[in-house]
Amino acid sequence: MSPLSVHDRALNAVRVSLKKKSLWDYERIVGSDVIDEIRSHAEVLKGLRLLQLNATAAGGGVAELLTSLVPLLRSVGLDAEWMVLPEHAEFFEVTKRFHNALQGMAYIPTDNDVASYLDQNRLSAEALTGTYDVIVTHDPQPVAVRHFAGRRGATWVWRCHIDTSEPRPEAWDVLRPYVNDYDAAVFTMREFVPPGLTIPSEKLLFVPPGIDPLSSKNRRLPRSLSEEVVSEFGIDTRRPLLTQVSRFDPWKDPIGVIRIYRELKKRHPALQLALVGFMAHDDPEAWRIYASLESEIAGDADAYVFTNLDGVGSLEVNAFQRVSDVVVQKSIREGFGLVVSEAIWKETPVVAGDTGGIPLQM
Ligand code: UDP
Repeated sequence: MSPLSVHDRALNAVRVSLKKKSLWDYERIVGSDVIDEIRSHAEVLKGLRLLQLNATAAGGGVAELLTSLVPLLRSVGLDAEWMVLPEHAEFFEVTKRFHNALQGMAYIPTDNDVASYLDQNRLSAEALTGTYDVIVTHDPQPVAVRHFAGRRGATWVWRCHIDTSEPRPEAWDVLRPYVNDYDAAVFTMREFVPPGLTIPSEKLLFVPPGIDPLSSKNRRLPRSLSEEVVSEFGIDTRRPLLTQVSRFDPWKDPIGVIRIYRELKKRHPALQLALVGFMAHDDPEAWRIYASLESEIAGDADAYVFTNLDGVGSLEVNAFQRVSDVVVQKSIREGFGLVVSEAIWKETPVVAGDTGGIPLQM
């Protein structure tokens, strides 16, 4: 199989470099039958040139999934690549509005917003000079790349990770024709299929994502090390800790988490709160929400807001999820919510919103 020749022409699509993974390392977790089944499916796909394209290589569930999935696809013989759209502040402001509108938030796209959205998609399409058999784009940000790139001999799949069951029509009407260009679409749940899709029903697939038990986010971590890691952030590990690990996003309702913490604190004065969030490049809203959380907890020495910029990476999230007495995921809309499985995997009690993919996990 020839190496992929995609390059980052004018930085309009950027290749993500990845660690190596081996499917066989997972045998002790899932058993040999599952590994054999995956191998037999992969046999017929050997050498398939597969491109995954999304908005960011870090922060949020899609980046988390692809970080493990792409190396695993390679380990069973697929020629898998992962590229991300370039960082572009105005574009990501617009795509976050589309993201929110697809989950039901009021938004009427302006002509400027639509032009900015389409321009970046066109530039990214022009940067894809490689040859692929299958191209999978994730979420709304790169949807129109398919339109601008043309078919290019590939099968195009749109993988939607959010709850698009009730999109705002003004925003969905803009994106829908671009989605309908795709050969197939994958949703986490059947309920998420938005209205007006013309992709044939047999080309709609429903696949919940999963976590990687061997990633640094989820791998075994001794209790003592977890406590050491969390203590470094000022948490007193002898006292109870309530944690939410989430992007700072209105749908994750972090202000609601603070409200719950305050109620609980009346009965459990020793309680501490950690809101752990990631500042993803494609999520400019996070900065505004971060500022509002900081001012909401100001003066409370037991409530903390931490981000990757404070040094909270995968290993630290792992430690927080293990050391917490309860992990909360107070989502009001949720595609899946990998953080729920991450905490359950660590046998930490979870209280979570009854929405989207969360009930699949609880
Ligand atoms: N995450 C992280 N650091 C943070 C916040 C989130 O590493 O400070 C990770 C989290 O552990 C999970 C992913 O980002 O793996 C979030 O995925 P989820 O499906 O829960 O939500 P999404 O961000 O995709 O809406």
